[in-house]
Amino acid sequence: MHRFNALAAALLTTSLLAAPWAAGDSPAKSAAKPPAAAATDPEPSVEPAAAEWRRDPACQLVFFAVLEGLYTDGVSDEAVNLIVPPNSGKAGVEHSFVFRCPLCHAAYEAFVLYQNRTAFNGSGEQRSTMGSTFDPKITEQLKSKEVRTRVYAMGALIRPWIEKRMNLMKLGEKDQQALLKKLIAQAAEGDKLFRAYRKDVKSVYHEWMFYGGCQACEAAEQVAKQMDRR
Ligand SMILES: [Zn+2]
Repeated sequence: MHRFNALAAALLTTSLLAAPWAAGDSPAKSAAKPPAAAATDPEPSVEPAAAEWRRDPACQLVFFAVLEGLYTDGVSDEAVNLIVPPNSGKAGVEHSFVFRCPLCHAAYEAFVLYQNRTAFNGSGEQRSTMGSTFDPKITEQLKSKEVRTRVYAMGALIRPWIEKRMNLMKLGEKDQQALLKKLIAQAAEGDKLFRAYRKDVKSVYHEWMFYGGCQACEAAEQVAKQMDRR
């Protein structure tokens, strides 16, 4: 009986693999599929490979630092939309960040989350925020046609947030050193990725011909190096 079950399972598997509808679809379901669906490639994921950034403490630090800063400074929707054009997928990441760079991605996700935030209960607003210290001059810099100006403005905006968050965490000496090391290592990874992209003349980053293209990484690295020296 036992042997029969194993044989039956093996036969079933073989027939499934050999069938043209082997992906788990029934033949009837495959036939019902409109032919256009197979021809359209889905939009590629903008998330860094393996989604490791989600578990990485350095990426989490950047994510929460940016989200916190956006709320506490009360950054305007206009400014946020200039950093990440809404609903624009890969192009939205590449507007201000290095595509699939873990630290950049953490910052990008925080901007997108804030962009899609809801109102506080009972406020009657479309989207609520907290503080009001955001400097509108930054909005003007973000409007610049020069990539350098707007990307640097984003980097300068988030740098103090990362530093503030790092100080708020009040880590012990050993943990702080470990986190700073991780930030520096992740920033170096981002820089490597950026340099590889930049070599491609067709890449959007080819025109990012200025030092430290990866500004979210650059901000994290600067904070880490400064704190490391203290
Ligand atoms: Zn980066």
